Amino acid sequence: MINTYSKLPGTANSIFSVMSQLAAEHNAINLSQGFPDYDCDPKLIDLVADAMKSGNNQYAPMAGLPALKELVANKVNLQYGSNYHPDTEVTITAGGTQAIFTILTACIQAGDEVIIFEPAYDAYAPIIKMMGGLVKSYEMAPPDYDIDWEMVKKLFSSSTKMIILNSPHNPTGSVLKDKDIQALIKLTKDTNVMILSDEVYEHLVYDGEKHQSMALYPELRERSFIVASFGKLLHATGWKVGYCIAPENLMKEFRKIHQFNVFSVNTPMQVGIANYLRDPSIYLGLADFFQQKRDLFRFLLGQTKFNLLPCKGSYFQCVTYGHFSEEEDTVLAKRLITDYGVATIPVSAFYMRNTDHKVLRFCFAKKQETLERSVERLIKL
Ligand code: GLN
Repeated sequence: MINTYSKLPGTANSIFSVMSQLAAEHNAINLSQGFPDYDCDPKLIDLVADAMKSGNNQYAPMAGLPALKELVANKVNLQYGSNYHPDTEVTITAGGTQAIFTILTACIQAGDEVIIFEPAYDAYAPIIKMMGGLVKSYEMAPPDYDIDWEMVKKLFSSSTKMIILNSPHNPTGSVLKDKDIQALIKLTKDTNVMILSDEVYEHLVYDGEKHQSMALYPELRERSFIVASFGKLLHATGWKVGYCIAPENLMKEFRKIHQFNVFSVNTPMQVGIANYLRDPSIYLGLADFFQQKRDLFRFLLGQTKFNLLPCKGSYFQCVTYGHFSEEEDTVLAKRLITDYGVATIPVSAFYMRNTDHKVLRFCFAKKQETLERSVERLIKL
């Protein structure tokens, strides 16, 4: 056996794989990994099948199918009043995570510092470290996961290369507010600091609140890579198709990496999605659709011992349990699977440091009956 050198020593399988596998082994209801348990629109599947049958089976252009890039640029520009050019400022990716990997690979070199907000999606920190970058973490805490920008300012140095934002936020379901945007504009003004804005849940914002896209603000737009996901838009997370938008100078660097990473994203899905999304009503109702699920789930969870944290967006509802158990969240999450048949995600997995806020994350992008059945089980706790 040869000796291997690990670029990510101490990194195990992602928490999403671990919990989904445990859920399968114990036949538990899987509210851990964020994905719908109902199928996407059969019309969409037909359009992808039609694309294959009509011969769209060879490489797409490296940056994406022109029709799909155009659709994305139109959608974003209409929604956020921006002016992204489909040829030079939009790239179709193999899902959000690939876009994130590509951005960080393109921008981060040894010694560069990247500010992240924890709890954070599990991909950010390992990729930064893999590139030789240093992670500067601002830790948000329950119940509100609010950001004190005076503290964020202290994380800034002459080596700060990038800030990673994620709104609506995974795992907490919080959303950026106007005061956050104003602070961000002030903090980055006259700097070369870039922003990676993970906006994969952009359409899932509740209670009439506005999605704070970086595309809305010229001062932020000029320094931002925005990451979006067709998986969330189309209820098809397993298709792994998303996109990145950024000003031309940033997108040039993104594409240098993208071409050697995936080269291009699968053609029939791009054709099918482009044809399907000609009708914008498909995504305009998404917030209402998921808000109903959130409201139902919150109502049902009200019958359990858990305390509900606020949920303003995303697929996720977080709860606290410190008032009835001393267990660590990883321990309780495992016990919920083995003893009660419900899988969740322990939120400590989204922090680099050991934390013990005693918070669990549930995904409510599920059929009504799934949410009802899971709460019937959780009531017994
Ligand atoms: N974004 C999804 C979640 O948070 C999972 C993505 C993944 O499994 N890598 O559950």
